[in-house]
Amino acid sequence: MTSSVDVQTTTPLDLGPARALSCRECGHRIPLAAEFACAECFGPLEVAYEFGTITRADIEAGPKSIWRYRNLLPVPADVDSYPNTDPGLTRLVKADRLAAALGVRSLWVKDDTGNPTHSFKDRVVAVALAAARQLGFTVLACPSTGNLANAVAAAAARAGWESVVLIPSSLERAKILTTAVYDGALIAVDGNYDDVNRLATELAAEHEDWAFVNVNVRPYYAEGSKTLGYEVAEQLGWRLPGQVVVPVASGSQLTKVDKAFRELGELGLVEPTPYRVFGAQATGCSPVAAAFKSGEDVIRPVKPDTIARSLAIGAPADGPYVLDSVRRTNGAVEDVTDAEVVEGIRLLARTEGIFAETAGGVTVATAKKLIETGQLDPDAETVLLITGDGLKTLDAVQDHIGPRATIPPSAAAVREVLNRG
Ligand SMILES: *Cc1c(COP(=O)(O)O)cnc(C)c1O
Ligand SMILES: [Zn+2]
Repeated sequence: MTSSVDVQTTTPLDLGPARALSCRECGHRIPLAAEFACAECFGPLEVAYEFGTITRADIEAGPKSIWRYRNLLPVPADVDSYPNTDPGLTRLVKADRLAAALGVRSLWVKDDTGNPTHSFKDRVVAVALAAARQLGFTVLACPSTGNLANAVAAAAARAGWESVVLIPSSLERAKILTTAVYDGALIAVDGNYDDVNRLATELAAEHEDWAFVNVNVRPYYAEGSKTLGYEVAEQLGWRLPGQVVVPVASGSQLTKVDKAFRELGELGLVEPTPYRVFGAQATGCSPVAAAFKSGEDVIRPVKPDTIARSLAIGAPADGPYVLDSVRRTNGAVEDVTDAEVVEGIRLLARTEGIFAETAGGVTVATAKKLIETGQLDPDAETVLLITGDGLKTLDAVQDHIGPRATIPPSAAAVREVLNRG
């Protein structure tokens, strides 16, 4: 882990249509680099683009992964010739049985459990890795609430990079093992995610060749979430849904799905029809929902206490921008209890045969609550983003489900159990 970042001084930086980093707060622009905070005002930096002509046909003829949208991302045009996990193009499932259970007319589930490490994080990591390679990094790193750890360790393994993954020591066992198997440097830290995140920021300043995907290359990483929005629109037949429900941890994903829908409209790839963006949180970590409900612009950090650990970020960096997105699109942010999260997981499983992790339970349960409270329009076409796989959070459901009975191997005993109902 000793090579330096001087590649960018000798090779011209090729990040496709990306042209600069610009500050979300003051608009100050800097050249593309591994920077994440504005030198003028400390606001977060975001990738600014100059898009060429992009047609539906170009995209449809592209790779069957997020790289079909490479001309909309901060990656080189030949990005798919480098080893990466090539995530994306997951199923968009017409969820008629869940729609009936929730009392909505037209419902779709974007099933991102189908990604290489079974969560949407493969999208953001793939883009971060592609950009980090161009920026001259050689080590992929992250602080993680679990899914990011999986995605970083796997992508680094595939690319032949070293990885450094920092996790809270209390993480679910499954998420620890499914990271450790890729054999990077996995380090458990005594503390919660916000502590681990602070530690990562400190380390990023010390190690020039470490690309902390969600810290020093965060502007590039974050753009990967746009692919969820692009895919939903393409899979609906190149149109925007009326409503989308998105789980909120740092809030990045929600703002980027919104950005993707806007870009598609601006580029003429879809009709710019109005859409509403809804955020979903667990009550035990709901700082954005709290700010939304009280009409405030600032997010008050909380100490997370919820089974939805992949969403347990108490000080969400993009919280204020989530508020901007939902207010601009006439959406909302709502939160649900852990009991409702478990019920959401079970409802999705029994109606659609999809086993989501706790974040998916948050999304389904929040959609239900938004409908019951009249915030979500039951007649508008709705998409739920199911971002992670239930096999990684078995501990959340283990006390609630199991066999109906344990019986001797006899037909009569089976009949007896089934008759009990
Ligand atoms: C990280 C994560 C999210 C939310 O991501 P943010 O962009 O930080 O809001 C949603 N779902 C799952 C399963 C995640 O792991
Ligand atoms: Zn600024």
